[in-house]
Amino acid sequence: MTTFRKAGVQDLLEGYQRKEFKPSEVVSGTMAAITQLNPELNALLETRSEEVSARAKDLDARMGEASKLPLFGVPIAIKDNILVRGWKTTAGSKALQNYVSPYTGTCVERMEAAGAIVIGKANCDEFAMGSSNENSAYGPVKNPWDSTRVTGGSSGGSAAAVAAGLVPGALGTDTGGSIRQPASLCGVVGLKPTYGRVSRYGVIAFASSLDQVGPFGRSVWDTARLLEVISGYDAKDATSSRGVVPRYTEALALPSADSLRNINIGIAPEWMEGLDPEVKKSFDAAIETAKGLGAKIVEVKLPHAKYALSVYYLIAASEASSNLARYDGVHYGTRSKKWDSLEELYSRSRGETLGREVKLRIMLGTYALSAGYYDAFYGKANQVRRLIQRDFDEAFSKCHCVAAPTSPTTAFRLGEKMEDPLTMYLSDIFTLPVNLAGLPGLSVPSGVDSKKLPIGLQLIGRLFDESSLLQVAHAYEKARGPLSHPPWKGDR
Ligand code: GLN
Repeated sequence: MTTFRKAGVQDLLEGYQRKEFKPSEVVSGTMAAITQLNPELNALLETRSEEVSARAKDLDARMGEASKLPLFGVPIAIKDNILVRGWKTTAGSKALQNYVSPYTGTCVERMEAAGAIVIGKANCDEFAMGSSNENSAYGPVKNPWDSTRVTGGSSGGSAAAVAAGLVPGALGTDTGGSIRQPASLCGVVGLKPTYGRVSRYGVIAFASSLDQVGPFGRSVWDTARLLEVISGYDAKDATSSRGVVPRYTEALALPSADSLRNINIGIAPEWMEGLDPEVKKSFDAAIETAKGLGAKIVEVKLPHAKYALSVYYLIAASEASSNLARYDGVHYGTRSKKWDSLEELYSRSRGETLGREVKLRIMLGTYALSAGYYDAFYGKANQVRRLIQRDFDEAFSKCHCVAAPTSPTTAFRLGEKMEDPLTMYLSDIFTLPVNLAGLPGLSVPSGVDSKKLPIGLQLIGRLFDESSLLQVAHAYEKARGPLSHPPWKGDR
């Protein structure tokens, strides 16, 4: 049986249109690949084969719609902090181990209306807090390129599922880098849209002023297709934008899309000091490729980017401390069996079910928001956030997008950074400013290092200009040529 592991979104859509196979055949292959590979990778938490087969059969009977539905018969994995009605949504936490979603998030609803098949819920760091996927209460996800290494986080399950060919596309969330960093460490494309581009209705909140849902794919085109389906205004999310959503894939099909002749790309040398030499080398080579395609490289300054780590960990923790108050065993969350008073019920329920990192952030956030400290911490952090946004405004007066590495290193070993939160937090130095400024950011693979681990190139765009990012990444991807595949085990 073919497992369709190498087929991307575009390959599947074309195959359906030529009537080469049916959704139920694709789904059987996908399920076989999951059975074979997921026990080792731990990328997917829940897969409901009966439901998935029924959905595929329903689509088999609607083959006539294959050319009209933009994601007809495409298997998708959904990060487990996004609700899908009837499926468990744990957000990687023991607190939600028995929580069954009462409704479906808007982004997933739109995918299903477009013909997609939800295959499984993807493992993630608890409440999306982490950079390695080791904070999941359901065990870490292993990197398909080297199973002794992390996938990055927090959307590590989504990234690994796409990298290993379990699914051609997936959804994740990105609060400080959680789509782009695992995309980089797993050698796939990941895009964090502009804040407000995609509805957050049905997404478990971590830090509401930073959270955004976005797609993963093995190609830029596949990622663009997922983005155009999930984007757009939603009356159920007051922060979603009413702006028109461009047809991203149509723009990629234009002949002009292969050239970067009218594009200025900004680089900020100061920001990148002290980079891992192999990551630097790959970045420089990518910039040379972009130049070869006609792009003009300009130098920009992001003087406040160096404060992003401090600012992010104050703002994200503060918002998290408020958002996570609901997991008290009464409103939400697993209730402790042992308690004598209401206060004890709350503290035991939280104490017994929330993980170490989540508790650390709740304490930090509660402290930063408390009377007397609010101005010095949360207030100050928001002022510096504004300065970071201004740096980007200034940079974008000279360029269409800013290029930087996605992650300062390639995939590190499981356990390597667990004892030292600060080193772990440094994994996101290049992604955090983008969330603080609300901008779109994309990670596209730029090659592998000497250990054969993938490296990612990050492109950061103007507000709501995902189009430029996709265009630059698409042209670059073509010029780069195919990546050497991860050493996939089993059937290819
Ligand atoms: N790694 C960052 C954190 O731990 C970002 C997480 C995210 O984007 N969800 O907070």
